[in-house]
Order: sequence, then structure tokens, then C-alpha cells
Amino acid sequence: MLFVSEHPLVKHKIALLRDVETQPKKFREVVRELSMLLGYEATRDLTLVAEQVITPMGTADAQRLRTKIGLVPILRAGLGMVEGMLEMIPTAEVWHIGLYRDERTLHPVEYYNRLPTPNRVQVSIVLDPMLATGGTAEASVDILKRWGCERIKYVGLLAAPEGVERLSKAHPDVAIHVAAVDERLNDIGYIVPGLGDAGDRQFGTG
Ligand code: URA
Repeated sequence: MLFVSEHPLVKHKIALLRDVETQPKKFREVVRELSMLLGYEATRDLTLVAEQVITPMGTADAQRLRTKIGLVPILRAGLGMVEGMLEMIPTAEVWHIGLYRDERTLHPVEYYNRLPTPNRVQVSIVLDPMLATGGTAEASVDILKRWGCERIKYVGLLAAPEGVERLSKAHPDVAIHVAAVDERLNDIGYIVPGLGDAGDRQFGTG
């Protein structure tokens, strides 16, 4: 399930990120804002529990979110997406996963994973700005499924068709939320036209 945001604010902000002139401070700010907007769309089907709340004027029928949500930023580019999501879901837990691509085999290699046993979240939201080859995304969802998480969503900023296809094929149950799907990957796995290296552009390391 692929969801590409149609929201004008999302379209405007992704243009800011794509712009080669956008400096890291502004870039981080916009990643945070886009994470809120895309996260808002990605969480629209979360389950609510009916409750009553006492207002200053009486009793109101209400609904509350009781689902335990885990935000799972993929190191390092996913880090910038945490703050905006946490502003919206302050009770979420944040669990980091570190994966890098082995340059020889091109397979993702896990180098950091401190997920607690047993699993204690009901919905995991993987945060990684660029769904490029889809190898890292597939591996992260594999890890979360092995951890026992039954409901997993992916929130990114940009995707390549190759990444969407790979993740959807490997994990058809995982909803993919992005701001745009670009033309293609280049021969070193970068999204074209994309926005460059999302980690470098956030952290000024390019
Ligand atoms: N990772 C990035 O940061 N950018 C891309 O275009 C692809 C993967």
C-alpha cells in the first residue's frame, strides 16, 4: 500500500528540501515539519478507545489513543524525523536500528539494534527519509517482524519506484507513506532527481 501525500504543504516543503541551496539548518527544520505532516497522514487509521472525560461543564463521550507506538528511526538519516513525530505522539517510544549497505555484497548489514525483549509496542513506524533500493527498508521490517511487531508502517520523504516495489513485494502489509515517488535510481543507488544524501544534507557532512 503506497500513499503519496497530495497535501499542498507537503509539496511545497519537499521542494524546499530538493533545492540544492537549502542549508542544513533549514533542511532539518523542513524534515521535522514534513515528518509531522506525513506522520499525521500515516496515523489516521490508529485504533481509538471510547472513554468518558469530565469537562468543567459535564461529561463528554470521547476517544483516546491507547495504542503503544514505537518510532523506529533508521540511523542515521532517520534521526531528523523523530522530533516532529514525537511532538505529535509524545508517548511514543523511540527504538533505533542501525543498518549500512555492504559495498561488496550490497546487502544491508545490521550494526545497531537494542530492541527490548519481549516486544512492547503494538504499532511500529519506521522512519527513513529515502526509500531508494528498498534493501534497508525491507531489512528493518524483517527485524521488527522478528521482534514480534504485527503492525508496521513506513514513513519516508522520497521514494524510487524500485524501493516501493521491493518493500511492497517483501512486505505487502506495510503501508508506505511518502511525499513523492521520483523517476529512478542512479547507478550508485541515489534517487533521481531526489534531494541528494539526506544524512549529509541534515548534518552538514556532504
Ligand atoms: N539515501 C540518500 O540519502 N539519498 C538517496 O538518494 C538515496 C539513498
